[in-house]
Amino acid sequence: MTTAQEVKTLTHFIGGEMTKGKSGRYGSVYNPTIGEVIAKVPLATVEETREAIAKAQSAFPDWRDTSVSKRAEIILKFRNLITDNMDELLQIICRESGKTVEDARGEITRGLESVDLAIGVPHLVKGEYSVNVGGQINAYSAKYPLGVVAAISPFNFPIMVPLAQTSMAIAVGNAVVLKASERVPMTSLYVSELWKKAGLPDGIWTVVNGDKDAVNEILENPTVQAISFVGSTPVAKYIYETGTKYGKRVTALGGGKNNMVVMPDADLEQVANAFIGAAYGAASQRCMAISTIMPVGQDTANRLVAILKEKISALKVGSYTEPDTDFGPVISQQSKDAILAAIERGESEGATVVCDGRDLAIVKESKGFFVGPTLLDNVKPGMEIYEQEVFGPARNIVRVDSLDEAIALINHHELGNGVTIFTNDGFAARKFTTEIDVGMVGVNVPIPIPVGYHNFAGFKGSRFGEGHMFGPDQARFFTKTKTISERWMTSNVSTASTFAFPSNN
Ligand code: NAD
Repeated sequence: MTTAQEVKTLTHFIGGEMTKGKSGRYGSVYNPTIGEVIAKVPLATVEETREAIAKAQSAFPDWRDTSVSKRAEIILKFRNLITDNMDELLQIICRESGKTVEDARGEITRGLESVDLAIGVPHLVKGEYSVNVGGQINAYSAKYPLGVVAAISPFNFPIMVPLAQTSMAIAVGNAVVLKASERVPMTSLYVSELWKKAGLPDGIWTVVNGDKDAVNEILENPTVQAISFVGSTPVAKYIYETGTKYGKRVTALGGGKNNMVVMPDADLEQVANAFIGAAYGAASQRCMAISTIMPVGQDTANRLVAILKEKISALKVGSYTEPDTDFGPVISQQSKDAILAAIERGESEGATVVCDGRDLAIVKESKGFFVGPTLLDNVKPGMEIYEQEVFGPARNIVRVDSLDEAIALINHHELGNGVTIFTNDGFAARKFTTEIDVGMVGVNVPIPIPVGYHNFAGFKGSRFGEGHMFGPDQARFFTKTKTISERWMTSNVSTASTFAFPSNN
């Protein structure tokens, strides 16, 4: 049992040191499984954030000038420290997020894919070279780091998203300032210790804990060159609009409302298993979670509902300390209340409750923030539960009559993060992948998250800006390309002034 005396006061990580907060303002970090505060996180002032950015800026030139292979070596050491300290990391992630141990392990493993790609940085920052482009001139283009860049992270992947946002940024020679989620800050502070042990110079990795004040300073501070944001759509839009107004390069990834289309020829047993994991895993707190299953045809829908009802009723909601738990709590009481309210509104707007997650004893009796698996049938466009992202285990069935209708509905939705189709019909799959307006598409794959060496981002309201959260495109996003034309004078090159536009003949 956690008592008031055990509540830890956390720090920032600035200039290579755990640094006490000076603002006097703190946020509460909960253990969502027991519903109790386990730590107080300092919320940085504008001045503290500014100082952190200045320290990062002074560390930047030496890191930029460090050989690319030396940078890769430090990242390799960091990678090994993550795997060596897996148990400690799992403990921290599960405590502050409530996710199950296996889910947390999966998150770390996927985060490591971004680190692995960053170890390959020498290959990704190679430039181009052309000899004798004109008048004994050689031309080349080369990638240079930007300087200080920032990442702003959500709560739902305490390690995977920050690793995905920052590993390549560091590898290509930038200094990174991370504004971790104030709801799960302990993981990023622990990661800071690993960077230090790996030999990363002080100031190249900074964690500023905070809220809007810290974020606004990041957005406005002229030293910050680029921002990678991951979070909800309204905040992503604000970050993109404000950051670009201040002249920064910004990629801002937002929320998701992801569909699984089920064709009549699909194996429904397989579909049901795929849906349940993808829909309810991590208490549905994944931007790529399946929110809506869209069976094509009433017969497909009726058969599917019968199978889903039985399987969903057997799911175990509980603590990460129990090995057979399928998923844990949501992140906060506020989040739990919002999910329960969304279910009620769905019902009042005409949806049918197939599985009611409000009825579970743990939901009514525990202090933890539990919501049971809920499935609503006959959900239709226009209902709030169809239009809005619900970040918790309330999932929808939307019945459609044809593949064309499914594609039209999905394309019309404001969000376009992930989508998948289950079918044995290659023609249907090809039509779907061609016509669908969503960033990450699966065929018979429940959650089509790309592997770390492919690019990750959605479309429409799920992404503002042109960059990606991870993948090789980050080597472009976090660098600027200089194109250099170079001539070493020889006696037979004319040095006379010329006033015509230079041509290369
Ligand atoms: P959030 O938008 O509330 O917070 C994200 C970050 O923004 C946090 O660091 C937070 O401190 C900061 N923030 C919040 N409100 C702010 C404001 N008004 N001004 C400035 N900064 C602010 O998101 P969350 O609840 O932490 O995370 C869940 C959301 O993130 C979901 O919508 C989920 O779909 C999305 N998400 C998207 C992806 C993706 O790849 N597209 C990945 C993970 C999570």
